Amino acid sequence: PKYVYDFTEGNKDLKDLLGGKGANLAEMTNLGLPVPPGFTITTDACRRFLEDGGFPEGLEEEVSGHLAALEGQMGRRLGQADDPLLVSVRSGAKFSMPGMMETVLNIGLNDQSVHGLAKQAGGNERFAWDSYRRLIQMFGKTVQGIDGELFDEALEELKNGRDDLELEAADFQRLVETYKGIVREQTGQEFPADPHDQMRMAVKAVFESWNAPRAILYRRQERIPADLGTAVNVCSMVFGNCGMDSGTGVAFTRDPGSGHQGVYGDYLQNAQGEDVVAGIRNTMPLQELERIDKPVYDELMKIMETLENHYRDLCDIEFTVERGKLWMLQTRVGKRTAGAAFRIAVQLVDQGLIDLDEAVTRVNGAQLAQLMFPRFADDAKSACVTKGMNASPGAAVGKAVFSSERAVELAAKGEAVILVRRETNPDDLAGMIAAQGVLTSRGGKTSHAAVVARGMGKTCVCGAEELEVSTKERRFTAPGGVVVSEGDVISIDGSSGAVYLGEVPVVPSPVVEYFEGATEQDDELVRAVHRIMSHADASRRLRVRANADNAEDAARARRFGAEGIGLCRTEHMFLGDRRQLVEDLVLATSDAEREQALAALEPLQKADFTEIFQEMAGLPVTIRLIDPPLHEFLPDYTELSVKVALAGDQAEEKDRRVLAAVKRLHEQNPMLGLRGVRLGLVIPGLFGMQVRAIAEAAKAVEGARAEIMIPLVGAVQELEHVKDEAQRILEEVGVEALVGTMIEVPRAALTAGQIAEAAQFFSFGTNDLTQMTWGFSRDDVEAAFFSKYLELGVFGVSPFESLDRDGVGRLVRIAAEEGRKTRPDLKLGICGEHGGDPDSVHFCHQAGLDYVSCSPFRIPVARLEAGRAAL
Ligand code: ADP
Ligand code: MG
Ligand code: MG
Repeated sequence: PKYVYDFTEGNKDLKDLLGGKGANLAEMTNLGLPVPPGFTITTDACRRFLEDGGFPEGLEEEVSGHLAALEGQMGRRLGQADDPLLVSVRSGAKFSMPGMMETVLNIGLNDQSVHGLAKQAGGNERFAWDSYRRLIQMFGKTVQGIDGELFDEALEELKNGRDDLELEAADFQRLVETYKGIVREQTGQEFPADPHDQMRMAVKAVFESWNAPRAILYRRQERIPADLGTAVNVCSMVFGNCGMDSGTGVAFTRDPGSGHQGVYGDYLQNAQGEDVVAGIRNTMPLQELERIDKPVYDELMKIMETLENHYRDLCDIEFTVERGKLWMLQTRVGKRTAGAAFRIAVQLVDQGLIDLDEAVTRVNGAQLAQLMFPRFADDAKSACVTKGMNASPGAAVGKAVFSSERAVELAAKGEAVILVRRETNPDDLAGMIAAQGVLTSRGGKTSHAAVVARGMGKTCVCGAEELEVSTKERRFTAPGGVVVSEGDVISIDGSSGAVYLGEVPVVPSPVVEYFEGATEQDDELVRAVHRIMSHADASRRLRVRANADNAEDAARARRFGAEGIGLCRTEHMFLGDRRQLVEDLVLATSDAEREQALAALEPLQKADFTEIFQEMAGLPVTIRLIDPPLHEFLPDYTELSVKVALAGDQAEEKDRRVLAAVKRLHEQNPMLGLRGVRLGLVIPGLFGMQVRAIAEAAKAVEGARAEIMIPLVGAVQELEHVKDEAQRILEEVGVEALVGTMIEVPRAALTAGQIAEAAQFFSFGTNDLTQMTWGFSRDDVEAAFFSKYLELGVFGVSPFESLDRDGVGRLVRIAAEEGRKTRPDLKLGICGEHGGDPDSVHFCHQAGLDYVSCSPFRIPVARLEAGRAAL
């Protein structure tokens, strides 16, 4: 195989083989831009090296051949004593891994060639010795593994408070001796003087840096595959450190913060590459270069324009000026903020560089989500008391409250509150809704607080472990003895996890105001979002529905573009005042009592559904019959036991009966217990009541399109029982509605062909399906072992966050395929957290589902990603 490509042989599409840096150096070379000549050793060579522990056969000969050609072209040999060619050996993987891998500059210098270099530079001794000490420093650190501090300290000592520009040739010469001493001491050997040894060792070190612990960690975090390997670029040196007419800089072709065109970059005179990032001196704004060297500046501006037009995107670049001559050392399509991504995509459409299809693929849902959260004003300065996990982004300010009741109470008076809890549970729901944000001291990103808050689009910082939360005393203490009591104002940043004392000013998101229907669009960002969203909507095949349990959410979802409700859960409708009725239902000892309790619930349910149908008139509304185990609606077992025990003989008869019921319903493992369809089959009349309420409500509302969904079905027989009853009721009331099921038990997916006989639609409940497929208890795994699993790379992201394609996804595909075999017009959707997750949306598109359903706040994200998936 061919292991080495000259810069003239590659191009930008060869990133797999040449890495990003190598591919783009080749591309610039072919564009005729001034790139110092050189060549690239492929990632393939690296992979073989890592497998075999040595250079693959033929590689060294190939490198020698290319080096000889380079030497011929440059008219000097590597390290030649009187007129040396110097090179840099630079890592460069397919994906940029900033600061993770290694580069060594000035290879080819030794005690002889340092004089040759000085001569080349017109007798500039200072420059030559500076370059030499840099070589030993970088080589020692990256190739020989010597602690960089040792070199830094020696340099500091030498400077003795002087600026590096004040150092003279003799200083650097002395430093070279010191550095050589460090190498001798640390490795027991002399610094390698042979230029070819230097190069060989550097190439090897770059290969090996692929598997450095920090590189491994970085890849895991960024989900970069571990087996790509890095390419190595050997590039002839140009020097920014040979006087004030030289320098080095970095630049963007447009502002990565706003997307606006202009001159954005930093420049440093008389310096070599690394100095700009290392911050050894203050850099100057790139505009200054116009004053220092107008011809170079003009050429740079022209090159940046060429690059933008060629890459049709924002690029960032590294360049060096050597005595008035400009050299390009790197370019790539640059990173940018979320807002800039949207602005730039549309600017490029307007410039005619890309079309709208491409503009849609240039942005993503994560960026859109970022733009939808309110933010703390950039200039806000406040004391951060602690940091937790950034569970749900946004900026929230309010009075700290420590119970759900108090949150509701104060919110009702129009106060902004932050609900602070050790951790939240379903009882806190009302408080979470009422609060501006939620702060917990326990639990991770899949804890109750985090999941529910993300679903609601509510700011949440969770797992702020330094906080001692005392619900009883209504206060928390933070590090440094800070005490925050109920009513004290705090601010939490769900994007960073920071917790602040006092009020930090917040700016609302103009993008949300736009989705909410604000008519003014006099904002460049909003206009950009509008154009991209319109095109995404026109392009997508997947429909997007909302998970909404009440009229308010339904209305917001519709404003955000929902095309129906994919999941309306009914369990919240049994909380609050209605608990009493549920209690009556559970305690009923006769049919008559039970029917009475159901009869009391029915009109309330009908009213719930009526409101939702009104908001969604004309669009389908999938209502899931009650799912969780009944004991969730009853008092806590321990609390009630204590109460009854304390009351002794005085205990109320009612309490005793409830306690007995709670005890009877108690389950070791309620998630796998009496819930969903099982409940419907065991408690006569419960599902019937709900179906009747849905039917009556649908009949009452013009344009209502009800879909009745049965949860937790594992066998077609379960569904048949419920379905027969449902259809009888629908006929009695005289309305039509689809009856279908959730697919959330693995058995349901595996027997989908049978289940589709009885189901008119499937909705994949991928939260439960993930839980049951992996055998993970969602409420427990996070704290117990997920961080370990992420660290070990069992998965790169929690399967509750992003749908596990290989396992859960396989079940979805099986069910979709076999279900449709039975019933070709079977409607297929997905509900649950995954419906708003970008990667999962792409999966749903590929698996041929009809729609995704997600929380109202995620709808724009799902619309955008569905558009991207289709393009
Ligand atoms: P990184 O990926 O960390 O940016 P690079 O390989 O780009 O590493 O090199 C580090 C620094 O050295 C950069 O500032 C780069 O511009 C500079 N550099 C690399 N090769 C050369 C060269 N041949 N001549 C001059 N400067 C170089
Ligand atoms: Mg670089
Ligand atoms: Mg479920």
